[in-house]
Amino acid sequence: MEPIVGIDLGTTNSEVAFVIDGHARVITDVNNGIIPSCVGIDTEGRVIVGEEARNQVVAAPDRTVLSIKRLMGTDRTVPMGGSDYRPQEISAFILKALKEMAEKNLECAVGKAVITVPAYFTDAQRHATREAGELAGLNVVRIINEPTAAALSYESANSETRKILIFDLGGGTFDVSIVKIENQVVEVLSSTGDNHLGGDDFDRKIVNRLVEYCEKDLDIDVAGDPVMTARLTRAAETAKIELSSAPFALIEEDHIGNINGKDIHLSFELSRIDFEEMIDEDLARSMDSVNKAMTDAGIPASEIDKIILVGGSTRIPAIPAMLEKKFGRPPHGEIDPDLCVALGAAIQAGREMGLENSGVLLDITPYTFGTSALSPLDGDWSPNRFVPLIRRNTKLPASRTEAFQTVCDNQQAAEINVYQGEEPNALDNVRIGTYSFDLTRAPMGSIILLNYELDINGILKMEAVEKKTGRKINAVIDNAFSGLTETELSESRQRISEMWGGDDEFTHEEAFEDETDESESSGNIIAAGVADILRQAEQKLSRAPEQDRDEMVNLMEEIRRAIENGNPEEAEQAADELDDLLFYLD
Ligand code: AMP
Repeated sequence: MEPIVGIDLGTTNSEVAFVIDGHARVITDVNNGIIPSCVGIDTEGRVIVGEEARNQVVAAPDRTVLSIKRLMGTDRTVPMGGSDYRPQEISAFILKALKEMAEKNLECAVGKAVITVPAYFTDAQRHATREAGELAGLNVVRIINEPTAAALSYESANSETRKILIFDLGGGTFDVSIVKIENQVVEVLSSTGDNHLGGDDFDRKIVNRLVEYCEKDLDIDVAGDPVMTARLTRAAETAKIELSSAPFALIEEDHIGNINGKDIHLSFELSRIDFEEMIDEDLARSMDSVNKAMTDAGIPASEIDKIILVGGSTRIPAIPAMLEKKFGRPPHGEIDPDLCVALGAAIQAGREMGLENSGVLLDITPYTFGTSALSPLDGDWSPNRFVPLIRRNTKLPASRTEAFQTVCDNQQAAEINVYQGEEPNALDNVRIGTYSFDLTRAPMGSIILLNYELDINGILKMEAVEKKTGRKINAVIDNAFSGLTETELSESRQRISEMWGGDDEFTHEEAFEDETDESESSGNIIAAGVADILRQAEQKLSRAPEQDRDEMVNLMEEIRRAIENGNPEEAEQAADELDDLLFYLD
């Protein structure tokens, strides 16, 4: 049978996928199959595509072309290495590279493809895409919409009628679409977005912060220097990606300047909280588009059956959190958001080949893994608040780090519990490990970083690190997935509640009192909400106006005292006041 491949021809990156043994798979090379949509001419006059072309952007901008997708369907040409090229020609080079990669991998000639385009693409843009395919030696058997492909990757095997919202935030563009699937036919009901919003904007915001830091704190002017801007942009993107799985990222660049013969190096710590603040407005704008898409489709939030995340930037934790808040349930990102459009295109290509019911093979965790920490639970202050680190349906392998704080001065130890389950009260979940971490004497609020790494075989590695000293403990739970069937879970719940006094309905207050005794010797860690406000206040204290600093310090003290005395309402009240003050200062 003649193969038909599925191609996601993206603004920033492109991929090719194919159905093998009933499963759509992205065809990979050394770079995981994700090819930057970048074309160039090298020093010897050869055409280069992908990573190689992207690497020469800074050194040879006149020989390199980026983001050609934005010009598809227009009459404009782009210069590259002394000649002018039509957008179809540049796209054809990208498609040729994907075709060759597929041929090498499948060990046969590839002459047919399904290619995806944004739902808003006009006839002229679709036609230009088809032409690009032909120039690359590909018969484009079908052009399908990107949200349709994304929906197919998740829902190809589902025969029910479903309405799905697709939130697609990539490197340079943002699209939100609502599609309806009925009898295996996908219809785009509405599509809107912003052609100039994406990860590149977030990188630029971090770069601006770095330039400001260099100017103010290091006395070095790096603005306007293209090589320095390129270096900082790369470093900013790396830090941004790190912040999707860790609360802090250290940005280090050597030799960024010279003062009186002395080399100056950049070392800047960016916190996730600060980064989220930088992109807050962009995220609010993206939610306006979500609302518009629902209005255009005439569908209220309550009628959306599923939310799907597409595009690398949706890995920023604030995005699923924002959507969960709006729709009351978590969005789906278990199929790699960089690859799900290509996988959907491959499923459609499979259908064109006469293959039925192909789908995407997934390695995901069926359970959430987290820890317990001192935090509000049902209005009470509880040491058993479950704090998820790796959530159910996350693609494996997965790694995530979260920051916690000690609750008293000179805390000698922290008890770290590893739980598996979905309940907000950790005691309702299954405890799969308990570790005591001896701490260095330090003031209350000292940060402990907790990392979980879960591999495809269910091996969970836990690491806790004292941020200030770098001291750490490690543990490996060999089979984190074992003994976790629903029956065993409910048996566990029953056992725990019986041990608690034979009553299922124990109150969180009781739980709190009991655990407090234990926490006096072993200590506890504080999570989320109040901790975040405290951390923000610490970071902003030195930058706050003189007249507000006393009030900030008083409120921080008040929160810490309230936590020490086990008084949740008081701590929360002071945290609210501090939050208001921080908002006012911003
Ligand atoms: P796409 O256009 O879908 O390939 O998305 C590319 C964008 O996703 C780039 O701006 C990347 O920096 C961004 N991106 C990729 N992975 C992550 C991550 N883990 N966290 C945040 N942004 C990411």
